[in-house]
Amino acid sequence: MSTDRHPYRNALRADRPDTVVHVGPARVAIGGDSVALIAGPCAVEDRDQLLGIARGLRSQGVQLLRGGAFKPRTSPHSFQGLGREGLEILAEARDLTGMGIVTEVLSPEEVPLVAAYADVLQVGTRNMANYRLLQAVGATDMPVLLKRGMASTIEELLCAAEYILAAGNPNVILCERGVRSFEPLVRSAFDLNVIPLLRHLTHLPVIVDPSHAAGRSDLVHGVSLGAVAAGAHGLIVEVHDDPAAALVDGAQSLDLEQAAALADGVDAVARATGRKLGRTRSTVAA
Ligand code: PEP
Ligand code: MN
Repeated sequence: MSTDRHPYRNALRADRPDTVVHVGPARVAIGGDSVALIAGPCAVEDRDQLLGIARGLRSQGVQLLRGGAFKPRTSPHSFQGLGREGLEILAEARDLTGMGIVTEVLSPEEVPLVAAYADVLQVGTRNMANYRLLQAVGATDMPVLLKRGMASTIEELLCAAEYILAAGNPNVILCERGVRSFEPLVRSAFDLNVIPLLRHLTHLPVIVDPSHAAGRSDLVHGVSLGAVAAGAHGLIVEVHDDPAAALVDGAQSLDLEQAAALADGVDAVARATGRKLGRTRSTVAA
């Protein structure tokens, strides 16, 4: 098929060099030869929690902070996130630490609100095929972190990215986070093939979410190193100051000490593959 009629013609690798997406106040590079680390809690729970985690991560050199203000929960009775208040807390963390903010947007109507606070708009696994949402984030010029649907093929993921690109936004970061399988001992089946395959098929950056892939904190370190060795451009990892008390996804969250060990391990693997982890040390006022 000729490139100009291909279903994901803009996402297609063709002869294009790697796309590098620049994120946040420090313009952190995601894609190309860099390896990026995004870390933070599943959900913003309160101001002290989020600012404490942000300070801890920033002092380790982490440059990008995740945290959900709008949470897509399986049960409507579960904690849904703090909404606008959560966004305000995230923005305060950015002002305090200089970290770039990654947070999820659930609906097209909420894109302007989330875009006013975030540095990266996250489209979650449950919304990968929400085409109106993809068009809405595509109408902005903001970086978009697009997670693979938990039952989606690689072609469907690339076509979802194509919606954003075709709407005029070139700043798409793909994220593999595992797919549904029959195995109950882990949350998702994490497919390492996808990383080199996507690197081959597309010029877009490819990162991995080992936390939602594994669903267990004890697996996160190894899965992360494997992903970086396989060519991932970075990781988005859940980190909590007190995982046992986390309101959402505590079982898969690293504590701050484990996060520091992860950053060191990722940097070592990145260096073994001719790259390095993007880190800038900074001490943030307590
Ligand atoms: C998340 O990152 O908190 C999240 C809900 O992820 P996913 O969409 O991959 O389940
Ligand atoms: Mn989560």
